[in-house]
Amino acid sequence: MPHSKGDLFVISAPSGAGKSTLCQMLLQRMDGLAFSVSHTTRSPRPGEVDGRDYHFVSSKEFEDMVARDEFLEWARVHDNLYGTARSQVMDQLSRGIDVILDIDVQGAAQVRKRFPTAISIFILPPSWQALEERLLKRGSESRERIALRLRNAMQEMESVSSYDYTVVNDILDDAFRSLSSIIGSVRLKTPRVLASVDLSLLNLPADAWFL
Ligand code: ADP
Ligand code: 5GP
Repeated sequence: MPHSKGDLFVISAPSGAGKSTLCQMLLQRMDGLAFSVSHTTRSPRPGEVDGRDYHFVSSKEFEDMVARDEFLEWARVHDNLYGTARSQVMDQLSRGIDVILDIDVQGAAQVRKRFPTAISIFILPPSWQALEERLLKRGSESRERIALRLRNAMQEMESVSSYDYTVVNDILDDAFRSLSSIIGSVRLKTPRVLASVDLSLLNLPADAWFL
């Protein structure tokens, strides 16, 4: 069957593994890729911009969206609500743009059920020590909240085997190269390539190559 739309990439990782950093690199360096900006009830971190990093909404606004069934998936993560609005993602996919969802393991499980063709990627830190150091270095959370994120990380890592691909983010540039090769290889799948070539190329007579 001809492939006429973009692919959906689901990226999950324990908080601090470097997922946002890697997603930013992908968006800056690869064409035809869009990031789905989630809705969340958590407060913005210094430097985060409403509409770019997240749509920051109140609990009431979030619950109203749930009631109107506007989310493709949503979940409670580290005591806050996070969700992916369906309309923007569907619109981009239908225009042939690949979409990245940076979502937690609960959201990824929901997407896998609804979109069996979605490609899921898990990002692992090289060690617990590195994960803790990165959370401390980011400096965006109190020690208490970092402890909560580390506890959740243990649970999240148990889901790694449900993902299609795993990338260990030790050296940032190597992890970026691995991620971009995964996306690059999905783009080379036969149905996708056939959707973009001149199909008359494939209608040559059987002996054409010997002329
Ligand atoms: P996440 O989005 O997974 O919570 P971030 O992308 O915010 O994580 O990264 C957490 C911190 O770790 C940031 O300060 C970031 O600059 C740093 N970081 C990300 N990848 C690496 C890496 N490969 N080596 C060292 N530090 C990294
Ligand atoms: P943070 O608060 O560090 O930005 O994100 C915390 C966690 O929430 C991360 O694991 C991130 O992937 C996840 N997350 C962000 N947006 C969404 C979303 O729309 N849905 C779900 N299920 N998780 C999300």
